Amino acid sequence: MVLTVQENTPPIDYRSGFVALIGRPNVGKSTLLNALVQQKIAITSPKPQTTRNQVLGILTQADAQLIFIDTPGIHAPKHKLGAFMVDQAVRAVPDADVILWLVDVSEPPQSEDQRIAQLLAARQTAQPVVLGLNKIDRVDEDALDARRAAFQALQPATAEVAFSATQRLHLDELLAVLCRLLPLGPQYYPADQVTNVQERFVAAELVREQVLHHLREEVPHAVAVVVDEFKERSPDMTYIAATIYVERESQKGIVLGEAGKMLKRIGQGARREIEQMLSTRVYLELWVKVVPHWRRDDAYLRRFGYRIEG
Ligand code: GDP
Ligand code: MG
Repeated sequence: MVLTVQENTPPIDYRSGFVALIGRPNVGKSTLLNALVQQKIAITSPKPQTTRNQVLGILTQADAQLIFIDTPGIHAPKHKLGAFMVDQAVRAVPDADVILWLVDVSEPPQSEDQRIAQLLAARQTAQPVVLGLNKIDRVDEDALDARRAAFQALQPATAEVAFSATQRLHLDELLAVLCRLLPLGPQYYPADQVTNVQERFVAAELVREQVLHHLREEVPHAVAVVVDEFKERSPDMTYIAATIYVERESQKGIVLGEAGKMLKRIGQGARREIEQMLSTRVYLELWVKVVPHWRRDDAYLRRFGYRIEG
């Protein structure tokens, strides 16, 4: 009998699994995901409801592989897109081995935090819940203690960690706590893979991020971005054409700006971000189109990747 030992066989006590990032909009879920995998795979912004789809962030260590599921924040939906987003977040719960419930310690618990606490209490599965107290850079120690107690009172957690995603404070501690709670298991993804989404998807998201960055309240929520063409013209040059969809002519005017200046600014910002991701120069062509009420239209929601399943 011949025994072969695979060189990349993980150690016997290797741990792996899914960590669902759950929390109300704006607590820093996507920021934390990017910080942990040290690459920008999810867009972030100070505006709530920035994340629309589930994005996986994969972190491979010598002793463990953590697969984070970033989710849209759980909120009260006002239209079909909102309903899809909440559904994406809620669906991540049964799939997870560990739930990381993220809160923002710079504010007292809100009604949306309460909804999540109730959701966790009512779930059919019994995974450990880690309470992640984010944004500690914004409070002193006394305030942190008070907030910690207030959030713990909503829903008792298996463990808790206080950290800052933007300042990269105590992220090692967070990872150690999560690893300890993961089950024994194989390395599911190759060590160099950091996400499940394609560069084409991230490129569209990076354009949407610039729209969020440059425009006021109501416009960003009505925007969807689709990459129509993505071509490597040469090893150091990528051509990308994308369409920014809005719901009204007036919104199109705002995205274009006076003499097209706003669109130009959005394009410049997005090009820089995409160049960083691809490590090539990028030629980015942007178009703006109006589709009335796309957020209520199943066909368009599907086309833009916001699929309604089941
Ligand atoms: P999400 O909706 O939960 O995904 O939240 P985002 O990741 O989009 O972050 C919302 C806002 O909070 C952004 O402006 C982030 O820069 C900010 N943020 C995230 N983490 C921290 C942190 O640790 N400290 C501070 N001061 N701001 C943070
Ligand atoms: Mg997000």
